[in-house]
Amino acid sequence: MISISVPVRRILVSVTLLAAILALTASTAEFNSISHATAQETRDCPVRVTLLQVNDVYQFAPVDGGTRGGVARVSLLRKEIMKESPHTLFLLAGDTISPSIESNTYKGKQMIEAWNLSGLDYATFGNHEFDFGPSVLQDRMRESHFKWLAANVVDKKTGKLFADTPEFVIREFDGVKVGLFGIVLQDTLLTSRPGPDVDIQDPCAAATRVVPKIHAAGAQVIVALTHLSMSEDKQLARCSGVDVIIGGHEHTLLESMSGHAPIFKMTSDARELGRIDLNISKSTGKLESIDWQIIPVTDSLKDDPAFVALDRKYGPLLKSLEQPVGRTEVQLDVKSADVRTQETNMGDFIADVFRQATGADIGLVNGGSIRADATIQPGVLTKRDVLSILPYNNKVVKMQLSGAVIRAALEHGVASIGQEAQPGRFPQISGLRYAYDATRKPGARITSVTVNGQPLDNKRTYTLATTTYVALEAGDGYDMFRNAPLLIRPEQAPSETDILQKAIASVPAIAPKIDGRIKRVDLGKDQSTCN
Ligand SMILES: [Zn+2]
Repeated sequence: MISISVPVRRILVSVTLLAAILALTASTAEFNSISHATAQETRDCPVRVTLLQVNDVYQFAPVDGGTRGGVARVSLLRKEIMKESPHTLFLLAGDTISPSIESNTYKGKQMIEAWNLSGLDYATFGNHEFDFGPSVLQDRMRESHFKWLAANVVDKKTGKLFADTPEFVIREFDGVKVGLFGIVLQDTLLTSRPGPDVDIQDPCAAATRVVPKIHAAGAQVIVALTHLSMSEDKQLARCSGVDVIIGGHEHTLLESMSGHAPIFKMTSDARELGRIDLNISKSTGKLESIDWQIIPVTDSLKDDPAFVALDRKYGPLLKSLEQPVGRTEVQLDVKSADVRTQETNMGDFIADVFRQATGADIGLVNGGSIRADATIQPGVLTKRDVLSILPYNNKVVKMQLSGAVIRAALEHGVASIGQEAQPGRFPQISGLRYAYDATRKPGARITSVTVNGQPLDNKRTYTLATTTYVALEAGDGYDMFRNAPLLIRPEQAPSETDILQKAIASVPAIAPKIDGRIKRVDLGKDQSTCN
């Protein structure tokens, strides 16, 4: 798997063409043949179909302090490219209507408005398209001026494709036909809220059903617009024989090859625009070669003036979210896969500030309360960053507990490691250190707990700060705290978001580092993986 950006690359799909050119240029005796071939090539100038790609775009405004992304910039870029390459299709490979701070209010409507202005042609669903349930997604689809494609998302009630999306589309340019279809990851059924009536079929089963139909409809060149993991994309390329995969989901710039198809994924939030030129023979309709370029979307690009009204409409909210709160000197790890399974620098920081703000012995935050699911780069931290890390704004209470209850809480916190991929209950902590062995049976996994260097005393009383969600609502299954005496009640308690914001604002820059307070002792015992 390659994860580097190389400005321009080329694959010669037609090896025979390459061999022919090499054979001809190697011999001066065949000069007549060369001029004959050149004349023929001129007559059969390939038709260039340009695919423009974005994926995982959660906000239309620029990101990274305004330096990268921005759908208005991409929109103007598309218009410029179309002047020179008129046969252009603008594609979104899933994940846009959720999650974001704006979508908490507008449920993705603001993204559809932006895509409509940008001239987007086709989109496939990402897992996050189902976060607000299937009926909100259908509302967003009705507002869309572009087409959604998903050949493997089925409405169980009718047996047809969800929301009557077409199984595929065929586009004709200068006499050559290109077929497109969409594929969504099956994980969506577990990680989002598609509801009981939506089924998502195996990507290969769906693709091997659709591809022959596209060929039968006269297209020789097939583009799969996908939202899958890279390993699933590679499998899809091999099982279906598609010509190019425009994918997403990883939030990493990836360029890979499988079967005979290159696979492209941009990072996220339109930080890059992928440009993939398909050079198709006019006489045979075959794909001769592919050129591509990863175009950085930066603040050196201008906005499409068509976005002025949209900026005005959402301007006040966007402006308030862009207010700087403080700075970070280091990268902040708030990826869900990390905060729900291991110590991270931001997990430590949040648990620390819970403890410090309340004067408790111990701070605890469940990994599932820490959102954002991102790596935040060093630099300015905005109100949007704070809200995206702790969006629920729960109160942080302080309780009095015995050491035995704290031990039970830690056991509960690590009990599903190994069975669940990203357990929301995983405890990020402050003021104590713990070690656990996930090969042991749940309830007996904690191998050591210390508070201030001393072993946790089951009989002693400690104070602990955590959110009302965990302390009072048994959130993520923490029901052992329910009857504990409260030293800071919810009515007097600060909110988690305020605590975090104040802690960031109180110093010139934060620089949290992990210090080994959480240890998983069975790591390395059997960690063989195969992708
Ligand atoms: Zn995704």
